[in-house]
Amino acid sequence: MIIVLRPATSDAEIAKIVDHLGALRLQAHVSKGAERTIVGVVGITDDKETLIAQFSQFDGVETIMPISKSFKLVSREARPDRTIVRLPNGATFGGNELAICAGPCSVESREQLQATAEAARRYGANVLRGGAFKPRTSPYAFQGLGEEGLRYLRDAADRHGLAVVTEVLDVRDVELVARYADMLQIGARNMQNFGLLRAVGELHQPVLLKRGISATIEEWLMAAEYIFVAGNHDIVLCERGIRSFDPQTRNLLDLAAVPLTAAQTHLPIVVDPSHGTGVRQLVTPLSRAAVAVGADGLIIEVHPNPAAAFSDGPQSLTLELFADLMRAIAPIAEAVGRTLPKNVIAV
Ligand code: PEP
Ligand code: MN
Repeated sequence: MIIVLRPATSDAEIAKIVDHLGALRLQAHVSKGAERTIVGVVGITDDKETLIAQFSQFDGVETIMPISKSFKLVSREARPDRTIVRLPNGATFGGNELAICAGPCSVESREQLQATAEAARRYGANVLRGGAFKPRTSPYAFQGLGEEGLRYLRDAADRHGLAVVTEVLDVRDVELVARYADMLQIGARNMQNFGLLRAVGELHQPVLLKRGISATIEEWLMAAEYIFVAGNHDIVLCERGIRSFDPQTRNLLDLAAVPLTAAQTHLPIVVDPSHGTGVRQLVTPLSRAAVAVGADGLIIEVHPNPAAAFSDGPQSLTLELFADLMRAIAPIAEAVGRTLPKNVIAV
């Protein structure tokens, strides 16, 4: 249930409510909005009616809403404002400004990262992506450079004022990845790896949660709920395409999911048209479409020489094509009242 407090309810009154919930073995999640504070309550109770009657008596309580949905704390109702996730370099997800993440599928070398980061920054990205731990379908395919790759990512990002988003595949690597990254990515294949979700839920670093290959929107939001309820509220959802029947695209980019999900959660949503299509020529048109339907940002695979990429070359943009993408989304962003990252040097 959600306890909505009157504006100007004091911290002492809020503490009384939280303490009483604690005594009943219920968990309280306090969200302070611009105007009012909301207390999200989770836990097991067999008598909701009594609970509602009891908490209605507390000073400062305006209304109490039971939430019948399976996801609660990430739901629209649970938070008065939309969540804005901020990275240390100033990149924001969910504000007026779009977040633009760009970089190779796999981190391959220091030189590859430096060249990509330089171009990403020059053309207007504010986050560097790249996998140091790769979730490959075959165990014989390139698995990533591990910590060496994380170092290249960090160095290249720092040199160009970018933040780092990178995937963590295994609970045992969470601490290591968190030392180098500004944002930890949970890949599509791990969306329901509940141990991993709990582990990143205990961090104080933002998480990019990709939608599972055949996950419903409700399952995706339940995965986000795992992270949220573990204590980490800085979650960005990423639509990256779902499995379909037509082999002409790698996945079916579900752009309907963007406004549909935004209506149900306060969390920001970005779109990955690279994995969402698997086809280089489709990345820019679908980036435009993603911005048009309200995405809070994009994550784009960019490689200095896609033909030689260790993974996902066919969907990777060259540095020049990334510049074209940034030019192509500018008028769409403007039309829907969004701005591009302010670090644009020369598009
Ligand atoms: C990636 O972004 O590198 C990746 C592997 O994506 P996904 O988990 O969406 O397949
Ligand atoms: Mn990839």
